[in-house]
Amino acid sequence: MGTYVAFHAHPDDEAIATGGTMLLASKAGHRVVLVVATRGECGEVADGVLVSGETLGQRREEETRAAAALLGVSRVEFLGYRDSGMDGEPTNDDPSSFWQADFEEASERFAAILRDESADVVSLYDEHGGYGHPDHVQVHRVGHRGAELAGTRRVYEATMNRDRLRAIREAVEDDANAITDEPEIDEDAFGSPEALITTTVDVSSVVVAKRDAMAAHASQIGEDSFFLQMSPEVFAMAFAEEWFIRTDGGRNHGEKWIFDGALEGAAS
Ligand SMILES: [Zn+2]
Repeated sequence: MGTYVAFHAHPDDEAIATGGTMLLASKAGHRVVLVVATRGECGEVADGVLVSGETLGQRREEETRAAAALLGVSRVEFLGYRDSGMDGEPTNDDPSSFWQADFEEASERFAAILRDESADVVSLYDEHGGYGHPDHVQVHRVGHRGAELAGTRRVYEATMNRDRLRAIREAVEDDANAITDEPEIDEDAFGSPEALITTTVDVSSVVVAKRDAMAAHASQIGEDSFFLQMSPEVFAMAFAEEWFIRTDGGRNHGEKWIFDGALEGAAS
């Protein structure tokens, strides 16, 4: 059996982007490790959600641990950087933010976890981090460098299938149950075109658990949120596949699982 390390920017990214893949890997007997760069301190939170003295970062760490338990994760590590906020926000300049982190030092921190875990497979993000958030771009850079430093051979960039997204959006717009705080996104800059995607993991068998893991991030994804207001049918359509770009040159297209051939020739 192998070890899969999923690298994410903020709490809740793991459930949305790779939650199904993590749970399927765990169910297949692999060890699954979640590394999160920040505690998502710049997220929005409604009044009355936090108790007195509690910070959003503390709440989001707890939510991450609850979601990770639902996703079969054996170990959760926070790199401990601060959320950099959306592109252009003053928080981008915070010296403790992930965006301002020393690149080699951050990469070495990540590499140390990969070495410790003898990681066989690692996932990070595509080059624009899915939608351009500075912390997501940084996961791409630091993740690749960390994998290089640790010698992790199988590297995937988690992404969204831009072409599928269009079809999903049309279905959501037709869905009587859909509520309308639909995220504003520029579809031409979001995710990756299907032609670049090497690997599509069918997570339909675990999509209910994936929804539960998303719901565990209740400070960010409430029951009245866009995602959780989708009907079960539309949710299953929107979240039943997870997409990756394999970057080690071993596969161009059509791969269905991240461990295919990943353990061949490995010592363990
Ligand atoms: Zn994020």
